[in-house]
Amino acid sequence: METNQLLGAVQQFGSPLYVYDAAKIESQYLKLEKAFLKVDNLRINYAVKALNNLSILKLLKQLGSGLDTVSIQEVQLGLTAGYPPEKIIYTPNGVSIEEIEEVAALGVQINIDNLSILELFGTKHPDIPVCIRINPHVMAGGNNNISVGHIDSKFGISIHQMPHLLRIIDNTGMHINGIHMHTGSDILDIEVFLYAAEILFNAAKQFNTLEFIDFGSGFKVPYKEDDIETDIEELGKKLSKRFNRFCTEYGKELTLCFEPGKFLVSESGSFLAKVNVVKQTTSTVFAGIDSGFNHLIRPMLYGSYHHIENISNQNGKKRFYSVVGYICETDTFASNRRIAEITEGDILCFNNAGAYCFSMASNYNSRLRPAEVLWYEGEAHLIRERETFDDIISKQKVMNFESTLVTS
Ligand SMILES: *Cc1c(COP(=O)(O)O)cnc(C)c1O
Repeated sequence: METNQLLGAVQQFGSPLYVYDAAKIESQYLKLEKAFLKVDNLRINYAVKALNNLSILKLLKQLGSGLDTVSIQEVQLGLTAGYPPEKIIYTPNGVSIEEIEEVAALGVQINIDNLSILELFGTKHPDIPVCIRINPHVMAGGNNNISVGHIDSKFGISIHQMPHLLRIIDNTGMHINGIHMHTGSDILDIEVFLYAAEILFNAAKQFNTLEFIDFGSGFKVPYKEDDIETDIEELGKKLSKRFNRFCTEYGKELTLCFEPGKFLVSESGSFLAKVNVVKQTTSTVFAGIDSGFNHLIRPMLYGSYHHIENISNQNGKKRFYSVVGYICETDTFASNRRIAEITEGDILCFNNAGAYCFSMASNYNSRLRPAEVLWYEGEAHLIRERETFDDIISKQKVMNFESTLVTS
């Protein structure tokens, strides 16, 4: 999107504001599809938790996507957006058997990631087909919080528990129709991913009723100039070939599934905030914006880098700033960052604000969550209104103490 379009959106809808570019979501989707053109049955299940706005879900549905969900509420969002249940996979971790049963009853594909739940579910519902999430124990992530395949991870059934897993399936007579892995965000090295895939193929041979193999996600997108990103074309070439060979050996055309979140929506998003104050201290110039980690927590939670541009003064002389929020805790978006000279009232634009930004926003400090806008076919569409004070108090039950006051 162009700078004047972003500034126009702030003028129209106020700040802070999330703006998503539909064209970018579409081009990412098509890029992934194209990389796996040689696979006859490809399924892309968008990971709802990255950005869960209904209009975004509908846009992805239009492109042919399915959904990857981690809670019953995400399943309900998918159904509300018009997805048929068979295009939704549910991959929870640590949720109750009751929730899993409730989702299964809706006709959604269940993906189970621990043996006790598998045994319980298989005993009660041997006829409902289930996918199993395997942990191949491959460390693929760039950050400890987002690498979920390693040895101490809480995710998945350990590949070393295969004998126990097979015994449960045998004893319950349940039907396994898919096998899954999700090794964590940020695949930097394709060979590591292919190595984990090899472990999954090996496990897949143990089942004769599979319909799909799900390789999860972890596609890395660039967050700054010259940043490494997952080479999708190269991965597509190598994994497609290997997958097709596996299907031949297996004797059946299986579906290859992915469940990207970040890859599809991260780069589409811009977060726009206004500079309230420029504050010079002895060593630092702070730019304080009308937002904080209540609206965009990734820099504070993961140490994530978000490129920041002063779109009100794009050609201004670059100076060093620490960009901070208004939350009454350490609330630093960026330290010592070179940004075009900032004046109070300027609009700063944070890139890569599509994934895990609005969906992680909260009301901390009793602040309102921002509005969301989708830029679609040359126009800005409001897809979520800014919250109002009513949203903050609407669920509260207010006690009245006057009548019970004890006086001595
Ligand atoms: C979060 C998640 C994803 C999406 O990961 P990205 O890094 O955003 O692509 C996919 N699958 C599962 C099971 C997840 O929990």
